[in-house]
Amino acid sequence: GRCVVAVDGPSGSGKSTVSRRLAAGIDARYLDTGAMYRAVTWAVLRSGVDPADAEAVAKVAAEVELRIGTDPQGYGVTVDGVAVDAPIRGPEVTAAVSAVAAVPAVRALLVARQREMITNAGRIVVEGRDIGSVVAPDAELKVYLTASETARAQRRSAQDAADVAATAADLARRDRLDSTRKADPLQQTADAVVLDTTELGIDEVVARLRELLTE
Ligand code: C5P
Repeated sequence: GRCVVAVDGPSGSGKSTVSRRLAAGIDARYLDTGAMYRAVTWAVLRSGVDPADAEAVAKVAAEVELRIGTDPQGYGVTVDGVAVDAPIRGPEVTAAVSAVAAVPAVRALLVARQREMITNAGRIVVEGRDIGSVVAPDAELKVYLTASETARAQRRSAQDAADVAATAADLARRDRLDSTRKADPLQQTADAVVLDTTELGIDEVVARLRELLTE
């Protein structure tokens, strides 16, 4: 039957790893909504548009052809047929993505796409910032992952092979932008299970979520 798991939280909270493993373990699809905002941001930068120019950003978002796979073992992201899996993780996109994601027209477009993909999949783990609150408020399970700022910065800097202090500063900046924007800010819903992953291993978190799903 239908099983939608919403996984929200700030970056470095372990969302991606946990979501992918959970999806693979329960034989579900997986949707990385952050990758969709990153892909639009890549298109914005490619077209020379200023990420702060909301109107121009919305126009780019409406015109690009964005495709994203839902295989938890490896999904591809393409923009107008170009594979962008590597560049969407780069520093240029990371620096600009929160501004692009704050544009209401961009969110409206991507949220509609995400809901369509969720309906088609039926059984899917969806990770992001607004999944439990906006994209799938009727999800069977809502999870909110947190971790200490230090743990999050350490994980992200290891992932990106970047300096910890610079990563910590960038995370703090993005968290602030993502949680204070007017459109669909990062938020914990009252019905979400909150898990602090600072001291928990990935496997423990995944095991806990599987328990919750069978309860
Ligand atoms: O999860 P990830 O770090 O790839 O997300 C990149 C950015 O995309 C976030 O910092 C946030 O600005 C935006 N985002 C969002 N809503 C989502 C997923 C990501 O606004 N559901």
